[in-house]
Amino acid sequence: MSPASKKIEAFSSTRKLKIMVVDCATVWSDCLEVIRKEVDDQNFNTWFKPINPLKNDGDVLTIQVPSQFFYEWLEEHYVPVLKRAIHEVLGPEGRLEYSVIVDSGNQKNPPLMVNYPNGNGLKRNHLQAMNGNGMHEDYSPFSFKALNPQTVNSRLNPSYTFGNFVEGDCNRLARSAGVAVAKKPGTTSFNPLMLYGGVGVGKTHLVQAIGNEIKKNLPEKIVLYVDQNDFTSQFLNALQNHKIQEFQNYYLQVDLLILDDVQFLAGREKTQEMFFHIFNQLHQSGKQIIMTSDCPPRDLKGFQERLLSRFKWGLTADLQEPDFETKLAIIHNKMQSDGIEIPTEVAEYLAYSVDTNLRDMEGVLNSLLFHATLLKKEIDLELAKEVLKNIVKEIQSDVSVDFIQKTVADYFKVSLEQMKSKVKKREIVIPRQVAMYFCKRYTQLTLALIGGNFGGRDHSTVIHALESVEDMMKTDANFKNSVEDLTKKFKSRMTGS
Ligand code: ADP
Ligand code: MG
Repeated sequence: MSPASKKIEAFSSTRKLKIMVVDCATVWSDCLEVIRKEVDDQNFNTWFKPINPLKNDGDVLTIQVPSQFFYEWLEEHYVPVLKRAIHEVLGPEGRLEYSVIVDSGNQKNPPLMVNYPNGNGLKRNHLQAMNGNGMHEDYSPFSFKALNPQTVNSRLNPSYTFGNFVEGDCNRLARSAGVAVAKKPGTTSFNPLMLYGGVGVGKTHLVQAIGNEIKKNLPEKIVLYVDQNDFTSQFLNALQNHKIQEFQNYYLQVDLLILDDVQFLAGREKTQEMFFHIFNQLHQSGKQIIMTSDCPPRDLKGFQERLLSRFKWGLTADLQEPDFETKLAIIHNKMQSDGIEIPTEVAEYLAYSVDTNLRDMEGVLNSLLFHATLLKKEIDLELAKEVLKNIVKEIQSDVSVDFIQKTVADYFKVSLEQMKSKVKKREIVIPRQVAMYFCKRYTQLTLALIGGNFGGRDHSTVIHALESVEDMMKTDANFKNSVEDLTKKFKSRMTGS
């Protein structure tokens, strides 16, 4: 929508009232009479009834309108009618000003209003620029430049695509919603699309893939990706420099707005208010909004309720930690796209071992690529283990694997050598399993690395150990006491008591 002029100057020949200062309600009701003759009932009720006259100082009538959107609608559709009305009622010098309720506020916060025309308001030459030739495509939220879809900086990373986003049970719903939105932004019921999930589950990748797809297939659309950091700092900057109107203008031109990691807007009331406003405007005009968060909207803390309720308007879909198969596919996919074949056993080893998150996995894979391409080393299990050791570090903890093994061995009166041996006798197996159980609880080691510390066992042996310990705790009270005794020892070590 192209905003039109902010003020209406009526150049009238006749003047009905000789105005001293007539109260604003009377002026407005006279105006309404004129308007009613020209506008049908439905539009009259929709667009004129909700307006409140605020003040009249002789030549200037100030009216209050419920939203920015409302104001822009009036300006786009009813300027001639309003002009005629003002000119009939107030005479040739008559002008109309608006007070726009940007935010109706709440008990704590008074309503936020913006007055037009004002010092920061849109100026006519700026308006022309907005409709102009799109020469001003720079990324600059602080001007009234028209954005050009071809050249606007969408801040997308072109390497995040649907093509290299591996589908699995963990992300199927989110991915299909993303595909649907990419085909018809703003017109599906998935608006807003809210994707949530933990670190490294692919939220950023997926939302950027949607953006890239839309840019490719619908080049006339203006796509913008921002993370909350960009949004917040741009907003604060705009506030300090009195460029709020320009800031809004920039965002309101966007057809697809992607806001990554909204959880960080928690507690930032003013920024939330601005986002709320932009969200409403875009949503009302059928523009697509996509957001990501680290938790479902209901668990977001520090957000205004009305904002949260809007987050739930469209579709909320989660992404989960990828399962083994998906991880494997992601590993192969990434290595292949970099032109490297990775032996299956290495890929499997990595899929088992990197059980923190996919960002760590990316670090490991990049490091492997570095070794393979620049150092010309062959990618084998040994190299993979070495790389892994450097990247996925054991988090500094007083309760190390060594300490756990020694404490548990002492407790059950077995030796460290037996603990790490292949011996399958029950009196050795149980302490070994208990030690594995505590390693999982108190260290950050991957299952495979825990197994590696117990005589080179694999991750499935560790999983089996964890299950056995938990089963035995349910059925064997003595055993449970032993585990609790040991727990106390480790806890007191950690708290230093
Ligand atoms: P998030 O934003 O959820 O923290 P990212 O999108 O940054 O996660 O993903 C972390 C890394 O894992 C990125 O390199 C991304 O490309 C990769 N990744 C995550 N999920 C997938 C997937 N399903 N297919 C391919 N790569 C993925
Ligand atoms: Mg992310």
